Amino acid sequence: MSLGEFDLIRDYFARAQDAPGVALGIGDDCALLEIPPSEQLAVSVDTLVADVHFPADAEPYLVAERALCVSLSDLAAMGAQPRWITLCLTLPAFDEAWLAGFSAGLFSRTKAYGCSLVGGDTTRGPLAISVQVMGTVPVGQALQRKGAQVGDGIYVSGPLGDGAAALALVRGELETTPSESAYLRERYFQPEPCFDWGHALRGIANAAIDVSDGLVQDLGHICSSSGVAGLVYLERLPFSAAVNRLDNTARYQAALAGGDDYQLCFTVPAGRQSALEELELTAFRIGDVVAGSGVRCQLNGADYPISKTGYQHFG
Ligand code: ADP
Ligand code: MG
Repeated sequence: MSLGEFDLIRDYFARAQDAPGVALGIGDDCALLEIPPSEQLAVSVDTLVADVHFPADAEPYLVAERALCVSLSDLAAMGAQPRWITLCLTLPAFDEAWLAGFSAGLFSRTKAYGCSLVGGDTTRGPLAISVQVMGTVPVGQALQRKGAQVGDGIYVSGPLGDGAAALALVRGELETTPSESAYLRERYFQPEPCFDWGHALRGIANAAIDVSDGLVQDLGHICSSSGVAGLVYLERLPFSAAVNRLDNTARYQAALAGGDDYQLCFTVPAGRQSALEELELTAFRIGDVVAGSGVRCQLNGADYPISKTGYQHFG
């Protein structure tokens, strides 16, 4: 990009932030970050491509919020505390109004989650946004996919299927009340990372993951990493009022294979279920960890076949 444009990018992104742990922020070749010796750095990156992960003409403020929230969800799933982010922006054109909206949305979320933007890269090309997130977690306490054991209960942190329902709404395939539409829109553009859960589950859960690609696929990752199988009781899945408008088949499909829900799915051994119940958070027990491999579903005791197992870009 030309120098003038680059100066403007700096205007939108190099702003003073309340940034603990930042010895050196935006403006040099690298940022320098301080990590206490008792903590590990948790790092993850996610890319959102226009018209794949969000509509290209969506409001830039909302696009920024969504990009940040979906990336931060991975930190939440590890039980990490969000600290810093870097941002790689690929822009088709230099559009000041778009950048102003994007910047405002981004900083509204960094402020809400107590993290700061410490660097990035800006290039020209088809609209795409990568947010790298960095968080800290006490050494040895991160929640991982491996660790689920036969006998654990399988839980989710909240309703499933909202992401798929939001997409159906955008496509005009779902009729809802205005308040349900507003709810789904918020769940799509502002999927709140479950930091309260991730934090609370340290020392309680044996394994955890965020549900980004549908329950079957994501619980399947816990199962394959842990060498166990998951048995899910469909009648126990929690749904929002909007998703409850769908018929049984569509509702289960949305939860099992829909994606974009960003709830946590986790397993807890019997001995720690009382600790889970004492939390000021309500978990939904949806299944059991059993011997074997893969994920199976039952509806009122009868096997329920799974048709499609989740979103895959190259599937
Ligand atoms: P380099 O050529 O060393 O990679 P750049 O010219 O790409 O440096 O960036 C200069 C500074 O501006 C760096 O500190 C970089 O992290 C920051 N930066 C560039 N683009 C962004 C962006 N979109 N968001 C935040 N910081 C950015
Ligand atoms: Mg660069």
